[in-house]
Amino acid sequence: MSSTTAAEAAAHMAKPISGSDQFEADPPIRGDRMLEFENIIRRELELIGEDPHREGLLKTPERVAKSMSWLTRGYAMDVSDVVGDAVFEEEHASMVMVRDIELYSMCEHHMLPFFGRAHIAYIPNGKIVGLSKLPRIVEVFARRLQVQERLTEQVAQAVQDVLQPAGVGVVMECEHLCMMMRGVEKQSSRTITSALRGSFKDDAKTRDEFLSLVYGSSHGRR
Ligand SMILES: [Zn+2]
Repeated sequence: MSSTTAAEAAAHMAKPISGSDQFEADPPIRGDRMLEFENIIRRELELIGEDPHREGLLKTPERVAKSMSWLTRGYAMDVSDVVGDAVFEEEHASMVMVRDIELYSMCEHHMLPFFGRAHIAYIPNGKIVGLSKLPRIVEVFARRLQVQERLTEQVAQAVQDVLQPAGVGVVMECEHLCMMMRGVEKQSSRTITSALRGSFKDDAKTRDEFLSLVYGSSHGRR
């Protein structure tokens, strides 16, 4: 399998791991890098005025390093690997949509979480993908330092690259802890981004159908 998508520029931290089991794969940061990471966290604790030697913090550097490694494991993941061979020839030509895909990411400006839902739709052009693969594509890009706008575009482009469909639409609705915790915005504010390709961009009827499905899903939620 070869890599087909745009986002591999960020994959310098570790080699992609082959196979669809990479969700359970070892985190990309290990060995000496892990020890270095732990030392940095220990120093970080000192810099914020903590005592890294007090009991409650003794194992914190190790935990944080492991956690960060896991939370950014998308750098070691590759779309072609998570999709695997789950692309099928199919003449179905109506919109396929997976709504309310949970996503967790971290903003690259503050390294704080943002989280919410992704809605992905496409109109096949001879090929469909196993539905469970769409959340996995989200995961590849969400588990990196991100801005929501780029994340949305990367997921749309990945679906485009994998399926060459007639069109793709992606909407993400997220809450950003860097805004909520720092009191920059009202705590309930959500950021909504979209990325459209092909007929979702060019054809108003397709776009309207997509957006009404998305906003239909939003009604009744907070
Ligand atoms: Zn931020």
